[in-house]
Amino acid sequence: MADIRLEGVGHSYDGGETWALKPMTWTWRSARAYALLGPSGCGKTTLLNIVSGLITPTTGRIWFDDREVTGVPTAGRNIAQVFQFPVLYEEMTVYDNLAFPLRNRKVPKREIDLRVREVSRLLGLDQVLRRRSRRLDPGRQQIVSLGRGLVRSQVAAVLLDEPLTVVDPALKWTLRSKLKEIHRDTGHTLIYVTHDQTEALTFADEVVVLNDGAIVQAGEPAELFLSPAHEFVGHFIGSPGMNVLPAEIVGDVVRVGREDVGAAPGGLPDGPVRIGVRPEFVRITGTRTSPGVAAKVTGIDRMGAYDLVHARVGEHDLIAKTEADSAYLPDAVEFLHFPADRTFLFRDEVRCGSL
Ligand code: ATP
Repeated sequence: MADIRLEGVGHSYDGGETWALKPMTWTWRSARAYALLGPSGCGKTTLLNIVSGLITPTTGRIWFDDREVTGVPTAGRNIAQVFQFPVLYEEMTVYDNLAFPLRNRKVPKREIDLRVREVSRLLGLDQVLRRRSRRLDPGRQQIVSLGRGLVRSQVAAVLLDEPLTVVDPALKWTLRSKLKEIHRDTGHTLIYVTHDQTEALTFADEVVVLNDGAIVQAGEPAELFLSPAHEFVGHFIGSPGMNVLPAEIVGDVVRVGREDVGAAPGGLPDGPVRIGVRPEFVRITGTRTSPGVAAKVTGIDRMGAYDLVHARVGEHDLIAKTEADSAYLPDAVEFLHFPADRTFLFRDEVRCGSL
C-alpha cells in the first residue's frame, strides 16, 4: 500500500480546449478507504484511470510514495482495479476467476486457496465457487469481479469504479460492510468511485467530492454533512439536500426578506449572501420567534420514520425534516428558526461564515 500523490495533475481529452479534470494537487493517504463521489461526467473515472495508469494525464506528475509513476503503464503500478462492468473469464469457475490474479503472480497454492476462501466467504460466494461464472446472474458476476479486485493482499492500491451498480440494493448494505471488513484486514489504499452518496457515506473513511473536474471538499462523512464548505456539497450530500435561501447582510444581522434570521458573522461586508441549512436542522415553531422567519406550509410527505414539511418563505421553497406523524397542516403559517451553529452563509457558492 502506498501514499498516492498527484502534483498538478489534470486531463483534457480535446487538446486543452476543455478540462475533464482540472489540474489538481492531492494525496490519497496510505491504508485509507476513500469514496470518490460526484455526479455523472464530473471526472471520477478519468481521475481513477490516471491513478491506475490507463490514462496518462495531460499535465502533472504522480507519485506512489517516493516513486514517480507518471507514464508508467498499469502493469508496472501494482494496483488492482475493478470496473463497473464485470470482466470475467466466463468459462472459468468462480474459484478460478478469484484465484486468477494470484496464480498470475505465482503465489503458492495453499495461500491462494486460503485467500480465495476468505474473500468468497466475506462476499457470500462460498456456495457458488464451483459454478462457471457465465451461469451467474449479473449481480453475482459483479460481486465476483469485486472479489477478484480484493483477493491480492499486497497491492499499492485497490481502485473500484462503481463496483455494485447491478447488485440488489438490499444486498449492497451488507456488501459495503463486508468490504469495510476486508479493508480493515488488508489495510489497502482503497478508492471507491460512486455517484451514490449513501454508498460513499456508509463505506468511506474519507469522502472526496468532485464536481466539474475539481475537488470541492474532502473529509469524513460527518464533516461533509455537518459542515459543507460549498453549496454543491450541501445539495449533493443529504436526503433531501441542504436548503438554500437568498439573504442579505445588513449591519450586524442577516435578513431573509425583511425578517432577521440571525447575527451576521464579523468581518463580512453588507450585501447579498445565500444561507444554507439542512432540513434536519430547520426548527418549526407555532409562534413567531426572533430571529426567525414566517413560512407557509405547502405540503407534507409522511415518510414513516419522519415527515418532510415543505414550506414557502416569500418565493422560496424549503424543507424541514420533523418527527413522524407531525401535526403540521398544509396552508398553515408557521415560523422557522435556523440554529446558528448549523446555518451557513455562502458567497459565490463558497462558505464564508455561519449565523
Ligand atoms: P460517469 O459517472 O458518468 O462515468 P465520471 O464522473 O466518471 O462520469 P468521466 O467519465 O471521467 O466522468 O468524464 C469526465 C468528462 O470527460 C465528461 O465530460 C466526459 O464526457 C469526458 N470524457 C470521458 N472520457 C472521454 C473520452 N474518452 N473522450 C472524450 N471525452 C471523454
